[in-house]
Amino acid sequence: MRPFYVTTPIYYISGDPHIGHAYTTIVADVLARTARACGEARFLTGTDEHGQKVADAAAAAGKSPQAWCDELVPRWKQLFALYHVEYDDFIRTTEPRHERVVQAVFEKMHANGDVYLGKYEGWYCVDDETFWPQAKLIEGKCPTCGRPVQWLSEDDWFFRLSKYSDRLKEHFRAHPDWVRPRAVYNEMMALLDEGLEDISVSRTNLKWGISVPQGQGVIYVWFDALLNYISALGWPDGPNMRKFWPATVQLIGKEIARFHTLIWPAMLWSIGEAAPELVFAHGWITVEGEKIGKSRGNAVDPFVLAEHFGADSLRYFLLREAPFGSDFSYSEDKIVQRYNSDLGNDLGNLLRRSLSMLAQYRDGLVPQAVDGQLAERFDGLGQRVRDLIFRLQFRDALEAIWELVTALNRTIDERKPWVLYKEERRVELDAVLYELCEGLRWLAILLAPFMPERAREMWAQLGMREPIDANWETALRWGGLAAGTQTAPSDALFPRRELVR
Ligand SMILES: [Zn+2]
Repeated sequence: MRPFYVTTPIYYISGDPHIGHAYTTIVADVLARTARACGEARFLTGTDEHGQKVADAAAAAGKSPQAWCDELVPRWKQLFALYHVEYDDFIRTTEPRHERVVQAVFEKMHANGDVYLGKYEGWYCVDDETFWPQAKLIEGKCPTCGRPVQWLSEDDWFFRLSKYSDRLKEHFRAHPDWVRPRAVYNEMMALLDEGLEDISVSRTNLKWGISVPQGQGVIYVWFDALLNYISALGWPDGPNMRKFWPATVQLIGKEIARFHTLIWPAMLWSIGEAAPELVFAHGWITVEGEKIGKSRGNAVDPFVLAEHFGADSLRYFLLREAPFGSDFSYSEDKIVQRYNSDLGNDLGNLLRRSLSMLAQYRDGLVPQAVDGQLAERFDGLGQRVRDLIFRLQFRDALEAIWELVTALNRTIDERKPWVLYKEERRVELDAVLYELCEGLRWLAILLAPFMPERAREMWAQLGMREPIDANWETALRWGGLAAGTQTAPSDALFPRRELVR
């Protein structure tokens, strides 16, 4: 496998993080953890700190933009730590390593004629930091967020996006899966068919941003932000750049697809780099049909949820509840239901019952390995789960894992170890107990990308000493659990929970 590189959008810090930010980052974490269990992987996230919206929010709070960002960044890092997100790099666009690259890219495009000075007249949505031509407005307002737009008339630098129209069309046709889901691909193709105009890439009258090397204002925040994916790799010739670019998966929200699938590849081509292999635009988490966002007043506090249900349970819920890519409507009832049924009853009770029978009948010692029916039936499960994860079909991957959960629960119900014990059918009893423990070991490994902390707890209760993050090829072979292993049953994995309020 080629070195795997996954990125999240860098988060625009004009306020506190909400559950949507956690969602995208958790998905990236699941991909990165799975990729690390198969080879080399790198996972980048970070914060987008320039632009008018940040400058305005800082001014309203009576702070300098830098001080405002410095205060908020730890909230993001706390959130990600709380949700057991292990990124390899966290980039802030106010870091010198990023600013250097943005200016160098601007210079390179200026030198090759792709950046030129012109006059911008048109509308601007501060909330989305987006330029809009008159024709795109809906009832005079921003077509993305519906907020009022402001009129701009300034001498700006432009990027020659129009020059890349044909190459973009060819690229879209040659790689029909490079933008997913399909609806987003189609939407972007429609924009390409309308034709692309050059875009303004500077803001003359804004001070908060990276200076245009030739003078005249600051570089447009989106031009600045997109480059984080390569500045963090040390563009142009850092060893990580050559190893990890092009990115394997760039995760985005669908509202920023235009930037990532039309402007971003053109920028990359302009400086001689390849487009990412896949841009995946996930759906929105909605509450009563409204997109979650602080400004809409329906933010769901991810800190409170993690405290109540446990971060791993939330990770499970977010990936299990809806197919990745579509919108899903959030409700706490659904979390409670999934928590108590899938996690508490199906998985938690399976571990508890299996280990308590083992403790009662065999002093907690794992019996000799046997090749039962389950060994054969689930032989290819690791490969299947991995393929589904790399196709970003997380719900399907979890359903595949749950087939094993269900099979193990059925084994207990049908083969009734308590009867085998009572009738002293020792060989059969050992066979059942071994299947349960070995099946649980598999579950811990397969669930580790999704629920890293709870999986480690399962692992510990199974008496496993070596790290759980072993290579799947070698770890997922039936019989890996050694006879004589002393198991260590402990507290319930998922104690019963009710609603937060
Ligand atoms: Zn807007």
